[in-house]
Amino acid sequence: MVRRHSPHRVAVLSLHTSPLAQPGTGDAGGMNVYVLQTAVQMAARGVEVEIFTRATSSRDEPVVEAAPGVLVRSIAAGPFEGLDKHDLPTQLCAFAAGVLREEARHEPGHYDMIHSHYWLSGQVGWLARDRWKVPLVHTAHTLAAVKNLSVAAGDKPEPAARRIGEKQVVEEADRLTANTLDEARALVDLYDAAEDKIDVVAPGADLSMFRPGDRTAARRSLGLDADSPLVTFVGRIQPLKAPDVLIAAVAEIHRRDPSSRVRVLVVGGPSGTGLERPDSLIDLSRQLGIEDRVTFLPPQPPDRLADVYRASDLVAVPSYSESFGLVAIEAQACGVPVVAADVGGLGVAVRDGETGVLVQGHDPADWATAVQSLLADDRLRTVMASNASRHAENFSWVHTSDALLDTYARAAWRFGRTAGVERPAGEFSPRRPRGLWRLRRT
Ligand code: UDP
Repeated sequence: MVRRHSPHRVAVLSLHTSPLAQPGTGDAGGMNVYVLQTAVQMAARGVEVEIFTRATSSRDEPVVEAAPGVLVRSIAAGPFEGLDKHDLPTQLCAFAAGVLREEARHEPGHYDMIHSHYWLSGQVGWLARDRWKVPLVHTAHTLAAVKNLSVAAGDKPEPAARRIGEKQVVEEADRLTANTLDEARALVDLYDAAEDKIDVVAPGADLSMFRPGDRTAARRSLGLDADSPLVTFVGRIQPLKAPDVLIAAVAEIHRRDPSSRVRVLVVGGPSGTGLERPDSLIDLSRQLGIEDRVTFLPPQPPDRLADVYRASDLVAVPSYSESFGLVAIEAQACGVPVVAADVGGLGVAVRDGETGVLVQGHDPADWATAVQSLLADDRLRTVMASNASRHAENFSWVHTSDALLDTYARAAWRFGRTAGVERPAGEFSPRRPRGLWRLRRT
């Protein structure tokens, strides 16, 4: 079913990470999931999607059908392997050329909407928008100016050039989507974005995959001990995500209560500056004397990940910065309370005291107290678990994609207007998209 004024074919630009990559390691994470899941939903509504990404292996097929109506085009731009994320700007021209050449093989108007993800893709989207004369919608996912407000020890601040590049894209895009109201405010306050071109569109979770299930069966399927209290970290292993804070917190619980049986499960692979010392968490668990209490699993596909969540008593998201935190929603969708840092979108993803707990700061002692008090209260955890799965129902890719279609419609209208094309009388009146809140200044 195509809505009036829905685009026919969207060129989605995801330069630095492929939706076909396994999330949870390297540069693949929530953005990959977002790009793929919203594309699948768009296609189900009759909107074709072609996702352009940079080829990272000589084995990458130039084009793959990821789902009916969703093509992934891998563009050769720079070396296949081993290009550092910070060197990606050197390949923007090559990537842009690949995208423009693909479009030139088709009739004019082949793509009637561009949606770029992350600032690097926004740079290419802006050029393609000018050439193709179709609207550009941009989703930043993360912002350098926000990330740099809380840099983890051992991490590097984002370079000034990224912030400049982001600001250019913010200015050029016809519409911007932000994951949360706070991100929208950051776009206005830190990037001078025009308020009236921002839509707040919350990301989602695959609620058919992530749903409550049997904890014992999940533990059995993962080969985990049946009884010990289990606190789990899921995500890319890098200082920004702070899995070390969870390990130190659990060590502190064992120090406070030597009879404690609490264990930690860490699921994911190295990423970013975490790649420099991939074994650092194993070393840390050893130094803290809890190596026999920590289990590491490599990145898991979604069905196995659902079992990881179900097997857990709590899921911890201790990140220093998080534009939303899909892991927090997925865990709650599986009926698991979340202990999260009170940063970025986690304040929206987790309802403090109802579906989990938000912790201020990253002091392992505070994290130990939060985890310990939740593990000690079975009744509270049961209430939180049922609140959590209800709360997660507000976040689905169906909602996200509906809101994006509204954004596309508004972008089309704005683009027409800015390009001097008159708005067709009576055909479309831009309505308030789901999730768009007026930006209130506090
Ligand atoms: N993920 C996964 N397998 C893993 C670890 C993570 O599929 O082993 C996925 C997870 O389901 C989630 C995404 O990676 O959808 C991580 O998204 P999040 O927003 O939590 O963090 P990001 O990676 O975007 O910083």
